[in-house]
Amino acid sequence: MTQQDIQASSDFIREIIDEDIKINKHSGKVATRFPPEPNGYLHIGHAKSICLNFGIAKQYKGTCNLRMDDTDPAGESLEYVDSIIQDVRWLGFDWEDRLFYASDYFEALYAFAIQLIKAGKAYVCSLTADEIREYRGTLIEPGQESPYRNRSIEENLDLFARMRAGEFEDGTHVLRAKIDMASPNIVMRDPVIYRIKHAPHYRTGNKWVVYPMYDFAHCLSDSIENITHSICTLEFENNRPLYDWIVNQLIDKNRPRQIEFARLNVSYTVLSKRRLIELVENKYVAGWDDPRMPTIAGMRRRGYTPDAIRNFCGKIGVAKNENLVDVSLLEACVRDDLNEKAPRAMAVLRPLIVIIDNYPDGQIEKIKCANHPQNPEMGTRTVPFSKRLFIEREDFEENPPKKYKRLAPGKEVRLRNAYVIRFERLIRDEKTGEISAIHCTYAPETLNGPPSDDRKVEGVIHWVSADQAIQAEIRLYDRLFNVPNPAAYEGEFTTSLNNNSLEVVTDAYVEASLKNSAPGNSYQFERLGYFCVDIKDSSPNKPVFNRIVPLRDSWGKIAGR
Ligand code: ATP
Ligand code: MG
Repeated sequence: MTQQDIQASSDFIREIIDEDIKINKHSGKVATRFPPEPNGYLHIGHAKSICLNFGIAKQYKGTCNLRMDDTDPAGESLEYVDSIIQDVRWLGFDWEDRLFYASDYFEALYAFAIQLIKAGKAYVCSLTADEIREYRGTLIEPGQESPYRNRSIEENLDLFARMRAGEFEDGTHVLRAKIDMASPNIVMRDPVIYRIKHAPHYRTGNKWVVYPMYDFAHCLSDSIENITHSICTLEFENNRPLYDWIVNQLIDKNRPRQIEFARLNVSYTVLSKRRLIELVENKYVAGWDDPRMPTIAGMRRRGYTPDAIRNFCGKIGVAKNENLVDVSLLEACVRDDLNEKAPRAMAVLRPLIVIIDNYPDGQIEKIKCANHPQNPEMGTRTVPFSKRLFIEREDFEENPPKKYKRLAPGKEVRLRNAYVIRFERLIRDEKTGEISAIHCTYAPETLNGPPSDDRKVEGVIHWVSADQAIQAEIRLYDRLFNVPNPAAYEGEFTTSLNNNSLEVVTDAYVEASLKNSAPGNSYQFERLGYFCVDIKDSSPNKPVFNRIVPLRDSWGKIAGR
């Protein structure tokens, strides 16, 4: 799918909202919510949902709540809550005072369940989980009614109260909505709405041993918060009739409406919490914020910007059919944003020493460099120049191909922001035979100007002054997986992990001006790509940089693979 196709896809959700406003539904109000379950960190797929929900609220001058959808004690935690809050805020969205927790509604949800029982619309079922599955039927066969379906209201109320009181073991009873065991939609065949689970909840502790199921809790949480448009992903399409059924039984007015859109899939990564948890727990990555992870925390650490992620979400648009979005589209958004914002600097990843024979010993020149070629308001800095420089090993070729524009025997090349140098001779390591140094001469009149005799120098290479440059560790990231769609990979998805997704370069050199650069700062290292100071591992004594993206959409010719 090209970028244009994506942009052309119409936003059917906004069309629905426009219609609703026209007929003055909900008195013209728009209220959305972003409802993550705090059982993992947020990822780029969630960013799509966040941009959609908060974006719609902003556009229609409505509100968007942040709601922790925390009705299942298993796997939920405060660490995840904190990360979600941090990530949504970092993406640039504001829920004002509307941070809610579905677990705060447990009492209200329980009261709704009692109301359903009293209306004869719910019953306590004592079949085992396996029996419930058997009785449910299949796509082509209707289900069978549970033998407990016609329990009296009194008996149901009594049993449900005793479920809450902790009298029964897990799995012995459930509360089910009494709908239609012959419905063509299996979801409507008397779905379970409450189950017994003797497990502490990270917020309510041991107060509850019955927990509402998603289908019951979600639509009623929406109703409690007066949500108008409840936007979720396509896997809930079949559950919409149940959403409506529950709301219609229990809510009189201003009923929320569920609208489904296609979830985001991005190539060369996985976006399911279960799989991301597996990557973290089995230490395939260094944590949720590993810069290779598609999590917001990982992308932040990698150096992706909120603007780039929001632009990406705008570009992919919202539609009803699932597809796999090329990760290079996300990378292009990052590149576009950083091209504007990141100051330029020089760094050498694989150093080769160059000695300028005719440059005075001990002299250090301060060369003024623009921080950004197109944005003069970003100012200038000085970069030291001296007799001993590092250049990129790959910028010298002993036997260059035709049209080679970098340094080679008999050739001249311009040092970026500085002088033209000419190759004189090379030194080899006696033992290994490898080139260990290059001797050159420089043309003093060429500081940012042409040679005096008008000879043409085409190539430009970057460099740092060897004695002033700062040694740094540079982490080069590649895609986490070798295949475009690891989730569809047959067998264990981890077998398609890219074993070379991280390359650590420990002997790199960055220009002296980056000495006290703050964690999180981003730069374009000229000719190499965009890099940022790692927010976790970098220190003034041992700077660590992450490569955010290479300059072009081919993995770095110079410093990449
Ligand atoms: P997973 O299926 O990976 O476990 P989830 O859907 O259970 O994720 P939630 O915390 O329930 O994760 O998601 C919160 C919101 O984000 C939901 O409204 C969900 O629909 C939406 N969401 C989750 N993943 C994606 C995705 N890949 N693309 C778009 N929206 C998503
Ligand atoms: Mg979910």
